[in-house]
Amino acid sequence: MVFADGTERPCGGLLVPVTLHQRTGLAAQLGAALAAPTPLTAEGLATPKMPGETSVRGLFVAGDATGQMPSVANVIASGSTTASAIVGRLTGAT
Ligand SMILES: Cc1cc2nc3c(=O)[nH]c(=O)nc-3n(C[C@H](O)[C@H](O)[C@H](O)COP(=O)(O)OP(=O)(O)OC[C@H]3O[C@@H](n4cnc5c(N)ncnc54)[C@H](O)[C@@H]3O)c2cc1C
Repeated sequence: MVFADGTERPCGGLLVPVTLHQRTGLAAQLGAALAAPTPLTAEGLATPKMPGETSVRGLFVAGDATGQMPSVANVIASGSTTASAIVGRLTGAT
């Protein structure tokens, strides 16, 4: 690493903190409410009624857009839960 003052420090790796944001305003245009921001996710979508369903009935979310801890394992679990919620809604079970 070379710092602004010209000094250097050997570095084999770097961890960079990243805060996720929604890539587009689509969810907001559809009226979806946001979850409370965290250091990891500034604009996760709230799922106040049941896992996977946003504050807008019939609008579902999965993965990083939910504001959960971003990881592949969580995203896969989220996709499965949300798929179940969609089926429940489509079949009238929920
Ligand atoms: C640098 C980095 C390192 C990571 N390392 C790890 C790790 O080691 N282990 C781990 O478990 N997790 C890791 N993660 C987290 C993991 O990658 C994410 O949690 C996961 O990929 C999120 O999956 P997703 O499907 O929700 O979103 P994404 O993988 O972001 O997929 C969203 C997709 O939607 C597309 N898209 C967005 N907007 C639109 C639009 N308007 N129209 C059409 N397409 C659109 C995007 O192009 C993208 O392809 C890492 C993340 C980053 C950024």
